[in-house]
Amino acid sequence: MKRRSFLSNVVLTSGSLILGTACGRKIESFPTETETGMAAPVSENRNTVLEPARQIPILAETDVLVIGGGPAGTAAAIAASRTGAETCLVERYNHLGGLWTGGLVLPLLATHAIDKNKKTRQVIYGIGGEMAQRLKDLGMSISEVDPVVDPEAAKYVLDEMIVEAGVKMLYHTWATNVIMDGNTLKGVFVESKSGRMAILAKIVVDCTGDGDIFHWAGEKYDEMQYHIGLVHRLGNIDRIDKSKAGYVEMALGDPTPIPSVNWVNMHGENNQDALDVLNLSRLQLEYRREIWESVQKIRQTPGHEKVFLLDTASQLGVRASRILDAEYRLTLEDTMTYTSFDDVIGVSGAWTTILYKGKSVPRQERPLWQIPLRSLIPKKTENLLVAGRCFCFERELVEDARIIGTCLITGHGAGAAAGLAVKEGEMVRNLDKDKLKGVLLQQGAWLG
Ligand SMILES: Cc1cc2nc3c(=O)[nH]c(=O)nc-3n(C[C@H](O)[C@H](O)[C@H](O)COP(=O)(O)OP(=O)(O)OC[C@H]3O[C@@H](n4cnc5c(N)ncnc54)[C@H](O)[C@@H]3O)c2cc1C
Repeated sequence: MKRRSFLSNVVLTSGSLILGTACGRKIESFPTETETGMAAPVSENRNTVLEPARQIPILAETDVLVIGGGPAGTAAAIAASRTGAETCLVERYNHLGGLWTGGLVLPLLATHAIDKNKKTRQVIYGIGGEMAQRLKDLGMSISEVDPVVDPEAAKYVLDEMIVEAGVKMLYHTWATNVIMDGNTLKGVFVESKSGRMAILAKIVVDCTGDGDIFHWAGEKYDEMQYHIGLVHRLGNIDRIDKSKAGYVEMALGDPTPIPSVNWVNMHGENNQDALDVLNLSRLQLEYRREIWESVQKIRQTPGHEKVFLLDTASQLGVRASRILDAEYRLTLEDTMTYTSFDDVIGVSGAWTTILYKGKSVPRQERPLWQIPLRSLIPKKTENLLVAGRCFCFERELVEDARIIGTCLITGHGAGAAAGLAVKEGEMVRNLDKDKLKGVLLQQGAWLG
């Protein structure tokens, strides 16, 4: 990454580089004083405030810029960097892993699925497989299939892999808008304690989970309102005294690699808007109180006095929000019929029972399924790829498309494609499919 700190500037108001579309509210008129930035630049209907134009320092120029360091973004950055592309990863919080670690969502689901011979086989390989293996080697995961991991160990392992791959890591940094030249994405604006800056890139990979980048780039998408939860962990599970008079068995979540610690999932309220910060704030307050009160009740139950609230997740449990409308929408039918794609980037599996053609099909009978590169490529914007829980799939597939295994696979595929596109000087949508498959196989992926 070439740091041109404070030497270069992106012009916001003239020239060909412009801000992407924002929330879309129209302002009828502006007070003229706004150019000076002296008077309060509030619109007449008091719905908006005009932000004065200014020069923005360019923090860096890089080949590949990955936004969001969840399972998808971490895999994407490692894959891109391993192709030899200069790669920068931007994450708003202080850890990698996204909901897997900061969300305390600990089971890496769908590592295995059913093949055409009706046999259960591993499907998650490549960078996701490496992460799982490293956690296993540290003694920080339990179970071979769908391993449950320790979140701090996972943060550590992901940091190690990012550093080893040579990725330039930017923590504590929010992406806040895109820099467009027509339909071509040129980079991203970021905000941090260092202020507002621009990062220019040949290819950007949107791994924000909520599709922030493709939204700002003006791509079409579905908005999904789904249930939002908040995961927490309980300590001293091994100090529950079952011999105590009045002891009753309680539901206290599920085991983690630390014997005294359980993780407790929360379904949460249905049909929630994950893009409304007021709603997110309300849920955060209500859920934390709910969890605190439930743990006090547990501690008042005979035998459970020593159980304590270890932590609530630092990331609210958003399951789905924006889902991209890409070149190809992966269907439930594809995943139930072993559909093969000539631009396959990896294979995932299912973790739950699904209704298919009026019949309930349990996880144990669900086929493995291929994911095509086209489901990660936006229809309009050039130089943008999308991976993780906001890639393009139909709603019926949401339970399987959003899980960590699938996010690791789409991240790996997007990162490898971005790296190859830089190397070949090619648009992502025009990439040679066989060359991409070659890169993925060389990086340990399994393509079915
Ligand atoms: C309550 C709950 C339970 C779940 N249970 C399971 C389970 O048991 N097993 C399973 O496999 N899956 C489970 N899932 C699903 C899975 O955890 C997520 O779908 C998966 O982690 C998504 O990965 P991702 O990389 O796409 O996004 P995320 O994990 O959401 O990561 C996105 C990252 O991008 C960062 N980011 C976002 N916007 C910006 C921005 N503008 N600038 C900079 N950084 C940004 C975020 O901070 C985050 O680190 C569960 C989800 C929830 C909410």
